[in-house]
Amino acid sequence: MSVDTTGATRHEAEVSEEARRRRTFAVISHPDAGKSTLTEALALHSSAITSAGAVHGKGDRRGVTSDWMDMEQDRGISITSAALRIDYEGRVLNLLDTPGHADFSEDTYRVLSAVDCAIMLLDSAKGLEPQTLKLFDVCRARRMPVITFVNKWDRPGREPLELLDEIEQRIGLRPTPLNWPVGIAGDFRGLVDRDSGVYTKLTRTPGGATKAIEEAVDTDRAAEVEGEAWERAREELELLEALGADFDRESFLTGKSSPVLFGAALTNFGVGRLLEAVVGLAPAPAAKGDVNERPRPVEAPFSGQVFKMQANMDKNHRDRMAFVRVSSGRFDRGMVLTHAATGRPFATKYTQAVFGADRSTIDTAFPGDVIALVNAQALKVGDTLYDGAKVEFPAIPSFAPEHFVVARAKDAGKYKQFQKGIAQLDAEGVVQVLTSDVRGEQAPVLAAVGPLQFDVVKHRMEQEFRSPVEVSPLEYSVARRTDEESAPTLHALSGAEVLRRRNDGELLVLVHNKWRLRVIERDHPSLFMEPLLAGGVV
Ligand code: GDP
Repeated sequence: MSVDTTGATRHEAEVSEEARRRRTFAVISHPDAGKSTLTEALALHSSAITSAGAVHGKGDRRGVTSDWMDMEQDRGISITSAALRIDYEGRVLNLLDTPGHADFSEDTYRVLSAVDCAIMLLDSAKGLEPQTLKLFDVCRARRMPVITFVNKWDRPGREPLELLDEIEQRIGLRPTPLNWPVGIAGDFRGLVDRDSGVYTKLTRTPGGATKAIEEAVDTDRAAEVEGEAWERAREELELLEALGADFDRESFLTGKSSPVLFGAALTNFGVGRLLEAVVGLAPAPAAKGDVNERPRPVEAPFSGQVFKMQANMDKNHRDRMAFVRVSSGRFDRGMVLTHAATGRPFATKYTQAVFGADRSTIDTAFPGDVIALVNAQALKVGDTLYDGAKVEFPAIPSFAPEHFVVARAKDAGKYKQFQKGIAQLDAEGVVQVLTSDVRGEQAPVLAAVGPLQFDVVKHRMEQEFRSPVEVSPLEYSVARRTDEESAPTLHALSGAEVLRRRNDGELLVLVHNKWRLRVIERDHPSLFMEPLLAGGVV
């Protein structure tokens, strides 16, 4: 396709160039696979380059990351999703954090809707773990490109070929290794780059220094130095060659194959190569389809979608922040945008870039960047903001909840605060709020993917909204979408109840368990009951 740029304004050319420089990605992994360690290593790597003068980045990223970690430690569990910006060789990498705990997978889903590529991080001893599988399903549903990083290679782990086989067999993703380990896990010697043939030897540093020394060794000498381990790696490489496990751009970009890298985040070994892969292989921000499936090109006037709401990030300054992934155009602080859901103007005087807990005011942003809008009371997750021609992006699908409670204000006198708090937590997507005429507004049903979400509600209702709540569990464990026509019949059945989801008006039928659901489906085949995104995506 040829692109006619003659009519393009300078503004469009700038936006297009800035978009090309950006890579926006997230790491998906099972808890303990090393996501925090890898994040730190990625940031360290980039700051090392910054201080070497290759990139004129702003500030020392080390401080930024540790602040971010501190905040997570502070809360004991990763329940926030912030963005980390890494300046690397003239590129801007936006790394969006995903919560590690399975109970917050809904949050992770939303983060994944805002990235263009994912790094699937595996523990070399454990391979694919339940949370990795669940998150991978989300990537697959979006046909998102996935780069695989096999971590902890410095420790005893599994055979590399066996790990590749597991990836292919269990999730149907064709692995295409970019580098290959020399020496078995536990006696790891280094990595061979399959493309260039360059061998990078790992030199262990005494006293457990945090950064491994990477030394490029030519292959003749490698054979001499590594002996049998080299021979074995060479045979395996030949096997890979014979299998045709070579990188293939098209199948990678459509989520069918995945480049695989080995390394150890803890010693920063192989992390540089991972950064190179993100820069060289991951796609730059591209046109995003709107609700009518019309693509909005990156050069179009500003548009962006809220993928996360967060209140109270700063203890000294209670506020409400919307994280927006920029889809198109140039963002300039102070712009007055339009909120697609209401048609109302939205002023952006107080925009910030959020790098961990550190906030710095930003003046401009481009496609792929994340901006945080403060005082965002009017916004909710999934909302579109735009400038110029109207655009509205499709809603971010929500997971099927599996846990349900009724919430009530402990102190009836605090009913107003109760209402305000519940509405806020609903807008942020902390839980889904369901109501019905039968139950009334005073006792809404809260629905969650994981029960920890209710702990967050209880804590925040008390601390932030000064309205402690009492929650009583309901006996439902399955939810399906239904419609106005089927609702009365379903509602009258025992072991089922129909409620309306407040934030999008959808009718949901809650059922005690899947056996009961099967019976209902069998006895009433004409009733409408559609699965929601469930425990992964179906
Ligand atoms: P997360 O839960 O995925 O964020 O995992 P962490 O980054 O907290 O790491 C979990 C544990 O694995 C920590 O004790 C890390 O020090 C350790 N770890 C992470 N990466 C490596 C690695 O490359 N090698 C080794 N030996 N340990 C690692």
